[in-house]
Amino acid sequence: MTPLYTDHCLSFQIDGQDIKGRIIRLDMPLNKILAHYDHPDDVKRELGKAMVLTAMLGSMMKFDGILTLQISSDGIIKTLISDFATDGSGSGVVRGYYRTDDDIKSPEMSILGQGQLMITMDQGQYMDRYQGIVKLEGGSLKKSAEEYFYASEQLPTKLMISCDKQRDGSWCAAAIMIQHLARNTTDEKDSETTEDQQQDQWNHASIMLSSIKNEELLNKELSLQDLLFRLYHESGVRVFSATEIMVGCRCSEDKLRTVLANFDTEELKDIAKDGIITMTCDFCKTDHKFELKKLIN
Ligand SMILES: [Zn+2]
Repeated sequence: MTPLYTDHCLSFQIDGQDIKGRIIRLDMPLNKILAHYDHPDDVKRELGKAMVLTAMLGSMMKFDGILTLQISSDGIIKTLISDFATDGSGSGVVRGYYRTDDDIKSPEMSILGQGQLMITMDQGQYMDRYQGIVKLEGGSLKKSAEEYFYASEQLPTKLMISCDKQRDGSWCAAAIMIQHLARNTTDEKDSETTEDQQQDQWNHASIMLSSIKNEELLNKELSLQDLLFRLYHESGVRVFSATEIMVGCRCSEDKLRTVLANFDTEELKDIAKDGIITMTCDFCKTDHKFELKKLIN
């Protein structure tokens, strides 16, 4: 039996074609984070989509680093941040959070409205920091991400992202993307395919991608590898690697103590309550507590 690959990202290539892709499905990290929110499902769903997209993009990083996806919007969700930290193996930890207006009951308001999507890749000493900004196209994360890929890599990209509650009440998010690679003229195989044929192959692969149903992408009983085979069995599909997406947070008291060091004594007294300063991590909602007198001495 093929592994299901839940909480994994697979990279693949369509056999004999200049088309590569990735497919990912999230369960544990997603449920852990979404459990913190008491908002309507439609609002929580956007964080799920953003997290699965972040993990998929992050798993493409070749070096030890962090990929951060940041959304600012005039919709119900004002700010959304998700990041993925990897040691360069492609496996890593994803987390995320969002902030809304106090009142999110207004039904006419879109969840993600106009705004921007910013993606930052920080791979420390190994590569220059990269930052790409695109408009939040009509509140659609999928369209904005496709636009981002085109702007950053100049590669045509097709994407499907999906996030929904399952029958058992748990959440699942999944995404799949394909990219049309630039033609490598030195590759012998390519000499057999004309540009028209390549375009046809790309169009066909794109149509197949958009034919996937949400139920298939999110079906935790269906292996990601089997799903790829369902889509691309005609031409054949080769899976290269499976990387693991894990739960976790990088907040620490040491980091927060550095933040607090920027405040002067009066400011610290203002934010303290009964001699204790509580700082809550936006991502994992852990309360970190500091004694005021230890900070000002
Ligand atoms: Zn945390």
